[in-house]
Amino acid sequence: MNKEKLERYLIQKRIPFFKNKPMSEYTTLKLGGPAWFVVEVQDYTDIVTVKKKADECSIPMLILGNGSNILFKDKEFEGIVVVLAKKLKKIEVVNTNIIAEAGASLMDVCDEACKHSLMGMEFAYGIPGSVGGAIYMNAGAFEGEVKDIVREIQYIDEDGNIKNIKVKPKDFSYRKSMFTDTNKIILKVIFELSMGNRDEVRSLMDRYWNRRKERQPLEYPSAGSVFKRPVGDYASRLIDVSGLKGKCCGGAMVSEKHAGFLINYDHATSNDFIELIEYVQKEVKKQTGFDLECEIKIVENKKQ
Ligand code: FAD
Repeated sequence: MNKEKLERYLIQKRIPFFKNKPMSEYTTLKLGGPAWFVVEVQDYTDIVTVKKKADECSIPMLILGNGSNILFKDKEFEGIVVVLAKKLKKIEVVNTNIIAEAGASLMDVCDEACKHSLMGMEFAYGIPGSVGGAIYMNAGAFEGEVKDIVREIQYIDEDGNIKNIKVKPKDFSYRKSMFTDTNKIILKVIFELSMGNRDEVRSLMDRYWNRRKERQPLEYPSAGSVFKRPVGDYASRLIDVSGLKGKCCGGAMVSEKHAGFLINYDHATSNDFIELIEYVQKEVKKQTGFDLECEIKIVENKKQ
């Protein structure tokens, strides 16, 4: 069977892996059942090697950054999860550019920018994702988006070849990039920043961080805002006016502090969470007429 074939191949190639590891250990929501295999990759060649074999065996492969925008279901994920945020984390500063590997934490990149008095990515301070996840999602906050600062991306294409592309802001849109819903894998990113004043950069980052602490339920496991901003309104406002703050399905709850956040309040299951998402969508539609589209990725048991 293909599962055993892939396992034998990982052993033969001496690529360390875990079997049946709960995805709740890899996600900020602390939810998700076990995956057949989890590989915390050390270098790019391992990614290509694993990708080619998984494709050959027709086994789904999912790339994971910091797991802060993703929901795995309770049942087993019948595939291989390749985690970048554990080991591919190098960050290098060259003049006013920062070159970061996809697994590097966005917060660490922000800290590095501040250390070198580089401005332009203060908005990203507090987004708990990896560089790869931030590009994939075109993450943004406080009027800033990753598209504004990224200039070059190295990635693996669908056929397993390593490519470099220069990008412009127009190549991205709201929470979407040319990587979204493709099988391309982001490896490395060049951010173009500008020289600024270190104290001003730090003070703006601190201000944004304090705003998050005031407004967001950071004391509970979550994946941030669950829904995209619909045209003409805000998801959190619509959920609030629909009277859904505090609504629970099992251990999952609409945060009382920020209605856009659904939280793992008390030992929730992924089923609880999905039930709550669907309930919120149904009620908001009924009461306001708006369709709320999920921003977080819900992992299905098929090729992604
Ligand atoms: P993951 O959750 O690991 O993955 C998300 C998707 O990206 C998956 O489909 C995955 O397959 C894909 N992916 C990840 N890495 C790669 C790669 N290298 N190559 C190809 N595909 C890849 N988001 C915002 O935009 N703004 C916010 O202000 C914000 N605030 C948040 C606050 C909290 C408390 C939390 C928990 C989340 C918040 N988020 C926010 C959501 C999340 O942090 C971002 O979407 C982040 O960019 C996701 O990065 P990640 O590494 O965690 O991605």
